[in-house]
Amino acid sequence: MLTGRPSNWISVMTPTRTMVFSNAPALPGHQPAPPVRTDLTGCPWHDVKSMLRGVGLRPTRQRMALGWILFAKGDRHLTAEMLYEEATKAKVPVSLATVYNTLHQFTDVGLLRQVAVDGSKTYFDTNVSDHHHFFVEGENELVDIPSAEVVVGNTPSAPEGYEIARVDIVVRLRRKAR
Ligand SMILES: [Zn+2]
Repeated sequence: MLTGRPSNWISVMTPTRTMVFSNAPALPGHQPAPPVRTDLTGCPWHDVKSMLRGVGLRPTRQRMALGWILFAKGDRHLTAEMLYEEATKAKVPVSLATVYNTLHQFTDVGLLRQVAVDGSKTYFDTNVSDHHHFFVEGENELVDIPSAEVVVGNTPSAPEGYEIARVDIVVRLRRKAR
């Protein structure tokens, strides 16, 4: 298919693909997590594309790149700023505004779950199943609570015409004073 193309066309196009694949998994401080989604084929690029198509989102270059950073490493909790930082390190050319928009689009179609910790901080969770969270104050870390350890008692009855969509519990932790 490339016959007849000027040779510099290839050199212009190639780096964009390789950098997205090769740089993101090697970010310092992040252990590669084993894949947890059994419906995936093992090829992250292919998986993200079919994930986006499956929820009716066009697999644009930016959605693909951000989706790959988000979903290729198992379950994680990220703020928009954290994802923006990872994307920048992986040399994905993207603005913080685009990261925000993409995270909200992913949330709207059910690929992500939003966890509001306080007025100023919102985390996006790649695990959309029902579960609750510890939030470590001062360290800005959101951690899943093993589901067996949470007992929700006395759920209020919903007002007339409403039903309870979900109960989110964020248990705030701080280190004990010595
Ligand atoms: Zn979680």
